[in-house]
Amino acid sequence: MTVQAIRPEITPVNKPWWDSLSAGVLTFQTCACGNRWLPPRALCPACLGSEWCWTPASGRATLVSWTVFHVAYHEAFAHRVPYNVAAVELAEGPRMITNVVDSPDGSGLRIGMSLTLTIQQQDGFAIALFQMAPVDDELRPVNGQHDSQSIAGDRGAFS
Ligand SMILES: [Zn+2]
Repeated sequence: MTVQAIRPEITPVNKPWWDSLSAGVLTFQTCACGNRWLPPRALCPACLGSEWCWTPASGRATLVSWTVFHVAYHEAFAHRVPYNVAAVELAEGPRMITNVVDSPDGSGLRIGMSLTLTIQQQDGFAIALFQMAPVDDELRPVNGQHDSQSIAGDRGAFS
C-alpha cells in the first residue's frame, strides 16, 4: 500500500510564500502599521489592513517551545517517528511552527537557543525548517544590532 503524502493547500494568499521558499527565501508579511506575521493571511491580524508586503527573513530564529512525537497520528508521518514539532520566533518577530531537523528526539534543544533556517525539499515542496545554530552564532548580533527591540515591538500582535 502506498502512503499518500500530506501536501499543503496552495491558495492565492499563500502561493507567494511557497514560491519564495522554492527560490530559497523564507518570507513573512509586513503591514503598513508595522506588524509582521506568519502564516500568510489576507489581512493584517493587528489592524485588519490589506496594505502589506512580503519581507525576506534573515533565517535566524530562536526556539520558543517544542514537543517530540513518539507516535505517528497519521500514516504519512510513521517513518519520521520520533520527530519534534517546534515553535520558533524569527529574528524579525514572526513566529512559525516547524521542525528542528538535527534533533529529531529533542536532545540538545533548549528554550531560547539560536536556530538557523534550512529549506529542504519534502514531497515536492520546499519546506522551511530549522537547525541548531553553531555556538558562536548565538553570541553574534543579527545584522550588527541586537534584535530584542524589534521582537519586543511585535509581541502585542500575538496576544
Ligand atoms: Zn496592520
